[in-house]
Amino acid sequence: MTAAPTPGRPSTPLMPAALPRPFHVMAKPSGATCNLDCDYCFFLSKEALYPGSGFRMDEAVQERFIEQLLSAHSGAPEVVVAWQGGEPTMMGLDFFRRAVELQQRHRRPGQRILNALQTNGTLLTDEWGVFLRDNDFLVGISIDGPPAMHDTYRVDKGGKPTSHRVLQGLDVLKRHGVEWNVLTTVHHANGDHGGEVYRYLRDDLGARFIQFIPIVERATPEGSVVTHRSVSPEQYGRFMIDVFEDWVRHDVAEVYVQQFDTALSSWYGADGGMCVHAETCGQQLALEHNGDLYSCDHYVQPDHLLGNINDRPTLELVDLPQQRKFGQDKRDTLTQFCKDCDVRFACNGGCPKDRFATSPDGEPGQHYLCPSYLAFFRHVRKPMEAMIELIQHNRAPAELMEVYAREDAARGRNEPCTCGSGVKWKRCHGSARSTTRRP
Ligand code: SF4
Ligand code: SF4
Repeated sequence: MTAAPTPGRPSTPLMPAALPRPFHVMAKPSGATCNLDCDYCFFLSKEALYPGSGFRMDEAVQERFIEQLLSAHSGAPEVVVAWQGGEPTMMGLDFFRRAVELQQRHRRPGQRILNALQTNGTLLTDEWGVFLRDNDFLVGISIDGPPAMHDTYRVDKGGKPTSHRVLQGLDVLKRHGVEWNVLTTVHHANGDHGGEVYRYLRDDLGARFIQFIPIVERATPEGSVVTHRSVSPEQYGRFMIDVFEDWVRHDVAEVYVQQFDTALSSWYGADGGMCVHAETCGQQLALEHNGDLYSCDHYVQPDHLLGNINDRPTLELVDLPQQRKFGQDKRDTLTQFCKDCDVRFACNGGCPKDRFATSPDGEPGQHYLCPSYLAFFRHVRKPMEAMIELIQHNRAPAELMEVYAREDAARGRNEPCTCGSGVKWKRCHGSARSTTRRP
């Protein structure tokens, strides 16, 4: 498959498609530990997997990880080294200084290394800012929207709000010219406010690269009941449509929203950047602090432990039959409802982790967010097709904004909004707050 031209740019570049089995490892050097205590964080419960552990990747594991990752991708011109947690900055700067040194020592001639760091931002100081800029780190910072929404669940160990500390961390990144993007979780508290969240990220914070991740937490390991914090099966779709209606009028090619780029790639017939909407998965692994390698960051649990990189090279672990099966099961266990779905090529049934609902014809194994995926992908079908047509005629997808502007100008103020909310145009995406885009 070829990569589709995109209106933006991927926040986490994938390994080059030329490699036989490129893979991506999320390293968790501090395991699940974090200085905050976000209500919905699934990592904190993982601390129980390693009772008595200090949760610090030691120097030997750090070097083995980097050496094995670079040698496994020896033919790749660029390799992404992804750091996350828990909170990876808890490892301190010296850990990352050493990581950069090790990368220089083990990289192949001409091989470029890109470090991607996902952080809550609260521990960033000027010293961090200088280091991250000088070493070209791409930093993802977790912000759930305006302070009131962010602080609903993103609290510290004392239950106190964190937004002011996160924004100080973001200021560090901006002040030092670090490349950054935003990761926003969509949950019960911000799920009805897609437009407001998007405009805050774009206008107040100046974000140009945004990922939205739905929060789906099961109340019990096996049941289909979710916690009150979870986004509802319909809410996530409405959220994404709300964002899309704003984006497609003002921001094509200016603001990168991962879900939209991935959808455009699917309509183009190429792989997108999101594993949840890929046909198969299994190339996004998670490395614990002690060298244990798991099938995926969402499956850090004993039955998905592939082995330890101290005992067996990463490349061998990634290639185990159980890992291949793990990735192919994503496609092979689709419900009949998914197999017959008109937007399956773009959705692919979502992440297996959340396939605990029942399909409309009574089959278990349907994705909890299926109603959202159906609504979103059907809603964007026409504009996606229009952008693909522009691309095929060597024109910029951003020209679609002119089409929207013409249609909006001809629309009556009291006509229903194009987002499907049922609200009048003048009170929805035709209102002053939606049509004003601050520079
Ligand atoms: S299990 Fe889910 S999150 Fe993990 S790689 Fe597969 S689709 Fe992605
Ligand atoms: S939209 Fe629903 S039915 Fe269609 S592929 Fe996705 S999860 Fe399956």
